[in-house]
Amino acid sequence: MRILITNDDGVYSPGIAALAEVAQRFGEARIFAPDVEMSNAGQAMTARRPVSAKHTPIAGCEAYRVDGTPSDCVMLGVALWGNVELVLSGVNIGSNLGNGMWHSGTLAGAKQGMLLGLRGIAFSAPATEKAQPDFAMLEPWIGRVLETLLAMPAHRLVNVNFPEHAPRGMQWTRQSVRNYEAKAVPTRDPEGHAYYWLAVLPSEDAGEGTDRRAVENGFVSLTPLRLDLTDHDALGHAHRAEGWQG
Ligand code: MN
Repeated sequence: MRILITNDDGVYSPGIAALAEVAQRFGEARIFAPDVEMSNAGQAMTARRPVSAKHTPIAGCEAYRVDGTPSDCVMLGVALWGNVELVLSGVNIGSNLGNGMWHSGTLAGAKQGMLLGLRGIAFSAPATEKAQPDFAMLEPWIGRVLETLLAMPAHRLVNVNFPEHAPRGMQWTRQSVRNYEAKAVPTRDPEGHAYYWLAVLPSEDAGEGTDRRAVENGFVSLTPLRLDLTDHDALGHAHRAEGWQG
């Protein structure tokens, strides 16, 4: 099985090296990842200029650094390598939980795989101000997650988040959809021009059964996702309001 690995922290992140280390036990792995950090790039794709891919072996794995977004990396890698079945993205330094999934370049890498008809799995681990994730501790858990998910072919797209400390186990979860509080903190440049730091802060407690609750309780969170954004309840309501007989 050909496994394409990407991330949004950049090709030299320790997180992608840890993922590549484990992925090579499950198939033939190759890295196509951004040459610089692309965190929060979401599903952006480069369309108005060409992209390049330069050879950069990492963790005993064939690797290419791409001057593009995570989605570009997956597009390019799938096209150049061919016969890719699985896209792995991460391990991101920082969680991608709840509504953060809308902005995540890590998840976008896995989603891009699914948009191309492949399977995608995104991995993220929390980073605190004091410490980066302990990737040596997480590697056996990456292996456990891959063993579990590869035995379940119906799961085409899964968002995986690790807890802050050694996991107590794995839990299947739903996406936490709480709103967040948007902040625009004003500041000034050296010439006195106004600028703003944009930030988001979670605004409510995570609900039962959510990704956020699982990692708060020390579990690895596995959230199966789909790409259909349609609000089927609202669509049904609209059809009924029209007297539509479908
Ligand atoms: Mn990132």
